[in-house]
Amino acid sequence: MPKPAAGQARRRSTRATLIDAVRLIEALRHAHPEATCALQHDNAFELVVATILSAQCTDRRVNEVTPALFRRYPNAAALAAAQPAEVEGLIRPTGFFRAKTRSLIGCAQALVRDHGGEVPNSMAALVQLPGVGRKTANVVLGHAFGISEGIAVDTHVLRVANRLGLAQAVDPAEVERQLMAALPKDLWAFVSDVLIFHGRKVCAARRPACDGCPVFSLCAWPDREAFAFGTTGKATRAMRREPQPSGEPPSASSAPRRR
Ligand code: SF4
Repeated sequence: MPKPAAGQARRRSTRATLIDAVRLIEALRHAHPEATCALQHDNAFELVVATILSAQCTDRRVNEVTPALFRRYPNAAALAAAQPAEVEGLIRPTGFFRAKTRSLIGCAQALVRDHGGEVPNSMAALVQLPGVGRKTANVVLGHAFGISEGIAVDTHVLRVANRLGLAQAVDPAEVERQLMAALPKDLWAFVSDVLIFHGRKVCAARRPACDGCPVFSLCAWPDREAFAFGTTGKATRAMRREPQPSGEPPSASSAPRRR
């Protein structure tokens, strides 16, 4: 029987990987039907503000401060003219409140100056705004405009995607690139939501609940059985070598792999 051409083999392998990844995300969707953006907002401006505030802060804490913030500054023009001390007082519980105040007011001023007070709906324009990086831009594009230009990668997505074997990288930009290559575009906005949700509810950083995990049989993490069966001594040591947003790359022994 003739061997398949190299191109054919590569296409089959790519298709198998795509199906695996889609199967995994669909299993997570089934397990977490409520997964969505947890930041409360009524429009694109509020989502930009909430996403800037969510850096190094829980969504729950952000949702506690934004109602008063949005009442006081309901649009970009109002926030652009705000007194920094007043904004700092309102957002203080979210941490890094001075830097976040500078970002919020700077972002609002740029929206007024360059976009007529409206939030632009392109990656190129969004990442020019103070305080807005690619992660924030992806959240805003996906949830405020229904546009998929990329995948938002936060600390949960970084960790869970690596454990599951959907990606194998420590750099969020590279994880985003690998997820985009592995999944069809219509899943890009959802994949971030469901990986964040799964990371919070099940696949926690230090104590993943592998024993009750709905995607245990699809997961590529070498330590999942140790966590499932309670023999976590070696696993805990391996976890220290897991990818972290600003940490060291994983060693070969702890790097997630596809089965
Ligand atoms: S089996 Fe464990 S490591 Fe894998 S996704 Fe589930 S909780 Fe996370």
